[in-house]
Amino acid sequence: MPLIPPYKDPMGAAIADYHREGHAGTLRVFSSQFDEDEIPVEQLFRTIHEMSVIEQRALALARGKVLDVGAGSGCHALALQAMGKEVTAIDISELSVEVMRERGVENAYAIDLYDEHFVEQYDTILMLMNGSGIIGNLEGMERFFFRMKQLLKYGGCIYMDSSDLKYLFEEEDGSFLIDVSGDYYGLVDFRMQYKGIRGDAFEWLYIDFDTLAYYAGQYGFRAELVCQGSHYDYLAALKL
Ligand code: SAH
Repeated sequence: MPLIPPYKDPMGAAIADYHREGHAGTLRVFSSQFDEDEIPVEQLFRTIHEMSVIEQRALALARGKVLDVGAGSGCHALALQAMGKEVTAIDISELSVEVMRERGVENAYAIDLYDEHFVEQYDTILMLMNGSGIIGNLEGMERFFFRMKQLLKYGGCIYMDSSDLKYLFEEEDGSFLIDVSGDYYGLVDFRMQYKGIRGDAFEWLYIDFDTLAYYAGQYGFRAELVCQGSHYDYLAALKL
């Protein structure tokens, strides 16, 4: 995925407004699968105390050289710096990276995770706030794990959070009605809009732990369930 320039970057524009003015307009989210929704922009600026138990756990477990992938406003990177940890934050949003730098993230770069010119290696790779989304779809698994092998140091670990969307298909009797002949049920398409800025549509993968563990195994990784949240969300550790 190429970098996102400001004129196509609704989330980055919302982050920049909130950072510079202390408030932002409505960051709208459209999907062919759901009703129109919005992302509360202040949540993208959450402090460690406002983060979920899952996120706090991932930050506590992060060790050595840490890479925060899709770092947004830099909330996790700033929390890690405050803990005295060594972190590099990357994002494809040029606006978000500017904001991260202004907020004091020491190593923030506008880089696509899949940019092969980016060749550092890390002890910990963090993918948070449904970090599995960046994989895009199940076909993206091979490319993702191949890339992780390049970026992880020997003995390193990926911490990724996601949600099992099966609850969206729950019937009144507690059973789940899922069309197994269709796409995987956690595959969602999104498009965002902020003020006059319309982003391109993109695919975002929510994945249940068993399916993630299956794919991890296919590409030589071991998946462990670190902890579960209150609503079908969980943190996974992925190791070679
Ligand atoms: N981790 C942040 C932001 C999550 S939103 C938080 O928890 O608040 C997901 C972020 O991933 C967006 O900022 C988006 O620009 C970024 N992103 C999406 N695809 C990416 C890729 N291929 N490489 C790097 N960043 C990516």
